[in-house]
Amino acid sequence: VIASHNPGKVREIDDLLRPYRVEVCSAGALGLPEPEETGTTFSANAELKARAAAEAARLPALADDSGLVVPALGGAPGIYSARWAGPAKDFDAAMKRVHDELGDGDRAAQFVAALSLCGPDGHCESFVGLVQGTLVWPPRGLKGFGYDPMFLPVGRAETFGEMDPDAKHEISHRADAFRKLVQAC
Ligand code: IMP
Repeated sequence: VIASHNPGKVREIDDLLRPYRVEVCSAGALGLPEPEETGTTFSANAELKARAAAEAARLPALADDSGLVVPALGGAPGIYSARWAGPAKDFDAAMKRVHDELGDGDRAAQFVAALSLCGPDGHCESFVGLVQGTLVWPPRGLKGFGYDPMFLPVGRAETFGEMDPDAKHEISHRADAFRKLVQAC
């Protein structure tokens, strides 16, 4: 079970799992409830989501908790990245808020992803990955999701919003965490 209700994440995790030919379904498709993210770290929230889906579906579950970390904003929006977009999931507004709060501040940022794999027996393993970049304004590109259009990975000319999914998968925070998971299995 891909323990996420975020279609952008489900699509990316599905892509990452494809070479391993495991049969997957999403928590949304199974009608599983979305647990409240009460953890204070990416790993704690990923584990909470994976554990809830594994217990409810009685299947191994993989969850992602991720976000944009801006050191000049004290690490915000961080674990609150989804919440900065509000109930309407308005990421144009969330990107604008990051830009406005940053003002003339240092535009360095990281995307961080924690992936948690939990079995129905309650055993969980978590892996954290990241990618470094710079925040651009205005946002560029319509591919990807969330804060992708304002994130320019280090050494690249295209934002995550402009990159093809395969190019993003080579360097993304999610792919970095996934590589660590695969190595451990
Ligand atoms: P959560 O992990 O469900 O709390 O949500 C993480 C939020 O972080 C997403 O809704 C996005 O706004 C943002 N985020 C995480 N990964 C990415 C990414 O790869 N691209 C753009 N935004 C991301």
